[in-house]
Amino acid sequence: MKREQASDWSLEFEKAIATSGLADDISRCISCGKCTGVCPVAAISPSYNPRQIIREVLLGNYERIVHSEEIWRCFWCANCAATCPSEIKYPLLMLYIRYFSMSPRSM
Ligand code: SF4
Ligand code: SF4
Repeated sequence: MKREQASDWSLEFEKAIATSGLADDISRCISCGKCTGVCPVAAISPSYNPRQIIREVLLGNYERIVHSEEIWRCFWCANCAATCPSEIKYPLLMLYIRYFSMSPRSM
């Protein structure tokens, strides 16, 4: 197994997402889990967890997120955004993370 390196982590990742303004301020996430509770993908695929993905982004776990196949499971139904008490636009966060996964690392 590949050793985790300091460069695998990046707090700049969350800053880039915040600067984009797409998903709104994900630091407002209170980890309530409502997004995961209403997600049809999470219902049939328990390893998919929007609340956990936001946590990982906030922690700066860049490599884990951008190379995860989980980021390709969301199909933008927007149930999560409709129920989020912090008004986080999670589907747009997914869009942005997919963009990062296909772009050369720039931070
Ligand atoms: S519903 Fe919103 S506040 Fe709650 S865990 Fe999901 S993103 Fe965070
Ligand atoms: S938009 Fe994506 S993450 Fe949100 S509820 Fe729908 S499938 Fe799940």
